[in-house]
Amino acid sequence: MSDLLDLIENVPEDLSYEHYRELVELLNRYARAYYVDDNPIVPDSEYDRLYRELEGIERNTEFKDADAPTRRIGDAILNSFATVTHGVPLMSLGDIFNDEELQAFNKRMLESTVSAPEYCAEPKLDGLAVSIIYENGILVRAATRGDGTTGEDITANIKTIKAIPLKLALLANEDNEYAAKEIPQYLDVRGEVFMPRDGFHKWNEEAKKKGQKPFANPRNAAAGSLRQQDPRITASRPLTFNAYYVGDCRGAHGEGMDEIMPSTQYGRLQFVKSLGLPVNPLVRVTNGLEGLRDFYEFMGQKRPSLNYDIDGVVLKLNNIALQEELGFTAKAPRWAIAYKFPPEEEMTEVLNVDYQVGRTGVITPVARLKPVYVGGTTISNCTLHNEEEIKRLGLKIGDTVIIRRAGDVIPQITRVVVEKREDKDPATLKDVVFPTTCPVCGSALERVGDEVAARCTGGLVCAAQQRQAIEHFAERTAMDIDGLGERIVEALVDQNLVKNIADLYTLTVEQLEKLIIDSNSKEERTRLLGKTTAQKLIDNIAKSRQRPLNRLIYALGIRDVGSTTANVLATNFKTLADLMQATKEQLTTINTIGEVAATHITDFFAEPHNQEIIARLFAEAKLEISACEQVSEMSLDTKPYLNKTFVLTGTLSHLKRDQAKQLLESLGAKVAGSVSKKTFAVVAGAEAGSKLTKAQELGITVYTEEEFLELLKKHNITV
Ligand code: NAD
Repeated sequence: MSDLLDLIENVPEDLSYEHYRELVELLNRYARAYYVDDNPIVPDSEYDRLYRELEGIERNTEFKDADAPTRRIGDAILNSFATVTHGVPLMSLGDIFNDEELQAFNKRMLESTVSAPEYCAEPKLDGLAVSIIYENGILVRAATRGDGTTGEDITANIKTIKAIPLKLALLANEDNEYAAKEIPQYLDVRGEVFMPRDGFHKWNEEAKKKGQKPFANPRNAAAGSLRQQDPRITASRPLTFNAYYVGDCRGAHGEGMDEIMPSTQYGRLQFVKSLGLPVNPLVRVTNGLEGLRDFYEFMGQKRPSLNYDIDGVVLKLNNIALQEELGFTAKAPRWAIAYKFPPEEEMTEVLNVDYQVGRTGVITPVARLKPVYVGGTTISNCTLHNEEEIKRLGLKIGDTVIIRRAGDVIPQITRVVVEKREDKDPATLKDVVFPTTCPVCGSALERVGDEVAARCTGGLVCAAQQRQAIEHFAERTAMDIDGLGERIVEALVDQNLVKNIADLYTLTVEQLEKLIIDSNSKEERTRLLGKTTAQKLIDNIAKSRQRPLNRLIYALGIRDVGSTTANVLATNFKTLADLMQATKEQLTTINTIGEVAATHITDFFAEPHNQEIIARLFAEAKLEISACEQVSEMSLDTKPYLNKTFVLTGTLSHLKRDQAKQLLESLGAKVAGSVSKKTFAVVAGAEAGSKLTKAQELGITVYTEEEFLELLKKHNITV
């Protein structure tokens, strides 16, 4: 007896009624934000975890409150739309997350069927469930799932989706053995309205440009777009539809469903397809556990390359008679299950924000995260891109954030979970303060015009930029130091012989001959440069003391000062000292120099570190710079990227890949398929993946599509 009393008094905290109620209320709050406001507070993975905990408590206790989400489909519906009572309820789906649960599902199906169960296996589209009613082939009504019994009347909005026929047709298709023979008198077809990824990205880009709030993911985008009061807004959104179930159907002569429709789920999908309704092309019939596993794996592999989001697969008994025998629980059919993929979104905390300096001086803020397993890997860092992005997110250090990693796309922080701030000690939340000087070299940062990136102006001294600065200085069209290529520059910097361009002129043959460089040969990994090559290089460096002014200006690597601009500057300012004194106003009086380039030039020369290096070039290295050389404008203008290698990745929305390739080639560039140390720049469109990650790792310049279009514009190419 005393044992029993003990038990009652010492109910584990996680089985207490208080805890149960807390969970119910929290889940209801999350469900409302998700279903009613189309604006989820937490990622699905967090909701699913709490939901499972609630299910566990209900299994082990008597607690089964009527308002628990385990007892309901969806949530209450908004009053802003007229309500529709569904003739046949729209149910939810039970879900499973691992192979053990898949085996249990298959076992249940096996027990209820006479032989090995046949399944209709379908992708689980991540959008919004709708029911569409056709009477005598005409679309008469469409509704959301709502609470399963009652939904919202969204007929006007559904009619704007081009993939949904307003009138059914009998499509002649000899291959379709399940094709309808007549237009049914009544058809209630169910399916998912969703927003394809390309449309979603394009729409979000536009929204950001207009200063509107972008959608967190395509699912919210679809739900938010469909539940608009003004159908013209829905019409402007790139929505589409796939049918996945027939709720009800009557024949032209009053026949029931079973008389006019095929007897399998797969057959019924082909039936509605023959009437002009789109059905997902990846739907398959499969057998037994192995068949289910194969489909799950197949769809998991396909997932990153699909143009729409899926969050799992839906496995349905194919035979309708068996489905009917098994029936439904209060929430979901017993004959189907959603087998979910590992989540692509998770919650974690931002521990700190660091700043990285890229090879071109761009400052990238990086969030240091409490490690979190998402999209198949543990993530502990995530780029925040730029200061604008931090502002857009409203991020503070210590915040809980949602991190998204889809396929091999680089992880993104999509949102701050502002609600979680309530649970934290305010002292632990700190504002993110963007630096005003370079974290590597201490030079001033500049941000010009409407550029979002902040850049270090210490181009000549900054350790993060030194290799690129030296390579650029030595280029054929700059100071033309033959033999000073990428590998040797890398070795000089790594072995601390050279920190900046002025140091090049202090090198000796003795130092250079002992330089260790990566070898091309298979037998030995490294070799010494050797006396002959060292002597040649020293001679070539010496020769570079005498170059015309335009080449020196170009060689300094000032942003936006290409060889054409350098030429213009050298003709307008007779010495480098004159140019260094020039004000922005003086510079902009020159026809081809705009406000942005003028700012880059004055910022560059205002930086004391750069002034120091330039002074050394003349005092120690004793450059003997001659007047501007006569260069034909044409030769400078037409091939500005001669022999530079670009890599294109991701989806470009304004031009096709082939077109981008041709344009780059017309500027002299080569376009390669993979990123290496030799890559000059990467153009990354939406959903760029591993190539972008690699470019970032190697510190290679990355242009967004917008930046790429700007670059083309600079060379008089408008797309
Ligand atoms: P569900 O989304 O897990 O599954 C049912 C839905 O799947 C159907 O209504 C239909 O829209 C869709 N579906 C897609 N393809 C289908 C196919 N081929 N056949 C049948 N149906 C298909 O269930 P639910 O009840 O709509 O929502 C529960 C899920 O919603 C949770 O698992 C959670 O991930 C998410 N949720 C998240 C939050 C949050 O705060 N983030 C809150 C509530 C719910």
